Amino acid sequence: MQRGTEQAYVHRGGRIPDNTAVAAPVVATNYGQQMTTGSELRNLPSVQRVVNGDSLSEAVDAYGREMVVELTREVLDGARKGVLAGSPAPNGDEIAAAVLGLMASLAEPSPRPVINATGVVIHTNLGRAPLSDAALASADAVGRGYSDLEIDLGTGRRGSRQAHLQSLLRRITGAEAALAVNNNASALLLGLSALAAGREVIVARGEAVEIGGGFRIPDVLRQSGCTLVDVGTTNRTYVRDYADAMNDNTGAFLKAHASNFRVEGFTAFVEEGDLVALGETSGVPVLHDVGSGALLPTERYGLAHEPTPQESIAAGVGLVFFSGDKLLGGPQAGIVVGKRDLVARLERHPLARAVRIDKMSLASLTATLTHYVMGEAEAKVPVWRMISTTAQDVRHRAEQWRATLDTNRVVASVEPARSAIGGGSLPGETLPSWAVSIDPPAGSSPESLLSALREQPTPVIARIEEDTVRLDPRTVLPEQDDDVILALTAAMAP
Ligand SMILES: *Cc1c(COP(=O)(O)O)cnc(C)c1O
Repeated sequence: MQRGTEQAYVHRGGRIPDNTAVAAPVVATNYGQQMTTGSELRNLPSVQRVVNGDSLSEAVDAYGREMVVELTREVLDGARKGVLAGSPAPNGDEIAAAVLGLMASLAEPSPRPVINATGVVIHTNLGRAPLSDAALASADAVGRGYSDLEIDLGTGRRGSRQAHLQSLLRRITGAEAALAVNNNASALLLGLSALAAGREVIVARGEAVEIGGGFRIPDVLRQSGCTLVDVGTTNRTYVRDYADAMNDNTGAFLKAHASNFRVEGFTAFVEEGDLVALGETSGVPVLHDVGSGALLPTERYGLAHEPTPQESIAAGVGLVFFSGDKLLGGPQAGIVVGKRDLVARLERHPLARAVRIDKMSLASLTATLTHYVMGEAEAKVPVWRMISTTAQDVRHRAEQWRATLDTNRVVASVEPARSAIGGGSLPGETLPSWAVSIDPPAGSSPESLLSALREQPTPVIARIEEDTVRLDPRTVLPEQDDDVILALTAAMAP
């Protein structure tokens, strides 16, 4: 029974529906009578009877008979299981209603937009960086039609998709060359495979880290065909540790930014510049995974200093790797900048094709980088707009929410809060902020209020602090204020 259902969905490229969701509306009916399962099964209508019924005629006209038949079979399968489990058989109308419900859920866009009221600026589970208007417009224009993705409009000859980014990235980072791929994990895989496969890569023990989601530096090295040579100790590593481990088979020094944890106290890590000097004479390149791609100085906003690609390039690093959708504030992408000959080796490697960036990401990344070149990143790139918003301005917005909620008879207060940067950048670093705080209705819990907020037409993701639900306006887009109020009012309704 299941087999047919799954095939149908795989063909459509749609979501495989949750069977319980399909079965629930049909088995929920209670006739208040108990029959034997065998006779109850005979009460289920046939596929033909349901499909030919009045309630599905519009659906048949709009989407075709075949589709409606498939969905009806699936709903009937669910109902049959329900009957076997002891539920009464739903009638034809109920089956038809479930078919229409299933159809509506198939047509729903997915992923759905949600409102991030957590105060975590770069939230991986919520899609990391929101894009600027210009970045969205570029992706839209390029996605809608054809583009000069790989054609040189001057000569009419074949061009490189990388050409669109190169001058921007050179200008911003000071690097000789640049390459963009699918994401930073793939950038690192490509870089190590192209430059150091079959060779040893020296990594400080404290930097052989797990970035998250199964991405561990030792695994990436192995997958790239490199041998990890870890040197130093968890908290301290010196240049002489690298020097002692170096030999004729050393392919690279790899430095990875600890983007999701902090080592404090008695620590020592080696500066990129010192490694560059060590590798220079024997031609060993320094590869630096800076992670977040902060192109603006984070200390300007009262945060700890996050390493920037510009600094690494200035220190003479061979290749610098970073994400497009963390502090850079663009689409998912992995960016490599560095020495011309090294970037060229990455471009020629067969993996480059396997991890190449798609046209819509490329277009929105180019538009995002343009904001930096034009000196307007703080105003135009949403993550920087959020980070640079003063606590005073967040408080003002929280007060406005509170006042509007008050007119809707929802009691809230405004409390001091901390917003986090999140998403593999600036671990433990927070910004002073303010949040709207709401007590759950009597008899309810903060968890149920969070869950009710997630069930709203535009789901709102909030957090719990001191047994109250907190919403930090810093990460809520300006145009989402009304939706937050609507969601809160509905979720608090008795
Ligand atoms: C986030 C991160 C990665 C992985 O980047 P993705 O773009 O998510 O693939 C790799 N290295 C560091 C240091 C990171 O912070």
